[in-house]
Amino acid sequence: MKYFIDHEKKKVHHSQHAGDQCEFSNTAIENREFTTNITYVERLILQENYAKCSYCREVLISLN
Ligand SMILES: [Zn+2]
Repeated sequence: MKYFIDHEKKKVHHSQHAGDQCEFSNTAIENREFTTNITYVERLILQENYAKCSYCREVLISLN
């Protein structure tokens, strides 16, 4: 599974489901990151207060 991280808004998206509704269009390119590293994603959520995108949440449910 591939994740799309918005470092500006501190949100984690599922790269295949992320779209206009996720409101990352204003985020600078350098603040966008793609990763498949689940450990890294979990650390951002648990330690850096990143949030799972509510629009992509259904496919991120495995992170709970
Ligand atoms: Zn999203």
